[in-house]
Amino acid sequence: MKYNVGVIGATGMVGQRFLLLLENHPWFNVKVLAASGRSAGKTYEEAVGERWRLAAPMPEKFKSFVLKDATEDIDEIAGEVDFVFCAVDMKKDEIRALEENYAKHECPVISNNSANRLVPDVPMIVPEINPEHAEIIPFQKKRLGTKRGFIAVKSNCSLQTYVPALQPLRRFGIDKVLVCTYQAISGAGKTFASWPEMVDNVIPYIGGEEEKSEIEPLKLFGSIRDGAIVPDSDMSFTAQCIRVPVTDGHMGAVFVKFREVPEIDTILELWNNYENEATRMDLPSSPEKFLRYFTEDNRPQTKLDRDNDRGMSVSLGRLRKDTQYDIKFVGMAHNTLRGAAGGAVLMAEYLCAKGYIESK
Ligand code: NAP
Repeated sequence: MKYNVGVIGATGMVGQRFLLLLENHPWFNVKVLAASGRSAGKTYEEAVGERWRLAAPMPEKFKSFVLKDATEDIDEIAGEVDFVFCAVDMKKDEIRALEENYAKHECPVISNNSANRLVPDVPMIVPEINPEHAEIIPFQKKRLGTKRGFIAVKSNCSLQTYVPALQPLRRFGIDKVLVCTYQAISGAGKTFASWPEMVDNVIPYIGGEEEKSEIEPLKLFGSIRDGAIVPDSDMSFTAQCIRVPVTDGHMGAVFVKFREVPEIDTILELWNNYENEATRMDLPSSPEKFLRYFTEDNRPQTKLDRDNDRGMSVSLGRLRKDTQYDIKFVGMAHNTLRGAAGGAVLMAEYLCAKGYIESK
């Protein structure tokens, strides 16, 4: 089973992560790399130059790829690949138009961008949480007038620190969630070299992040009705999102109020034994364990635990009773792996395995 894929925004931080993950992927063969008109026509190595931002070196096999223009060369790109991954830094309305354009060229889009996240017939899928949302795809194709083209999106990276832990607890009736996230600088596409102000500093504002952290979980927990994903309306979220001097890995401090309060041991059992359709499929990018609970008081730690299971597991710890809410805990996930490129690759694997994406 081999699918030809394109990476749109290949020169960016998330794009670079995609290339590392796809270099030896068993199902996905990278055929096309694209970025802005500034990079088009250059080799990948020339276009990225000093902008390579990951600790692992640039994969040899992509250095000589000649970049295409993500907007001007859609016809050509869509003809060459079975689907594209997309992570671009453009205005929201431009991204929305770009992604719809690929879909209308019969090229499925697996997106890391936020532009289409709240469109009611665009599934926002974390395979271990809401794989059934893929069932909305036929409705979206009908709206777009396509046979194989559609858009599926990843949720915001901050959500991976708390939403996965809440999924097995929904049976107790989640009423309110308060979360403070401590987010790595790679979430802004930056390193300490490109953002020296972040050394020895904390910035208590990340534009747009708190809104996404409060709204997107409701869509992930929503259900399909009449051709739309209807967000959950029984629970509410409040968030403060803070930028901290960490390269990779977001952490969340989470407080939860339930309608029916579960015992601490029950929660631990549910976390430790959690599985769903996607975890049982054992996809190439699936972590060995989706939710990993640490009993030590000083874990999880970003530096120690972000790379567990190739950066795809969600690390939890410090679960205890709270005096104002019912429980509190800490969650941590790698923001550009589980939270961005890795999560998108896993979603694509799920959609391919289920036949939503077929090779041409
Ligand atoms: P980035 O490092 O700034 O990279 C931006 C990419 O977009 C580059 O490949 C750039 O190409 C391309 N681009 C810019 N303008 C373009 C245009 N007009 N047409 C086509 N391509 C264009 O950004 P990033 O951190 O990778 O983030 C990319 C997207 O992923 C954003 O929407 C972001 O919100 C989302 N995201 C990021 C993270 C994270 O942890 N970093 C997590 C989740 C989601 P050139 O090199 O040619 O300029």
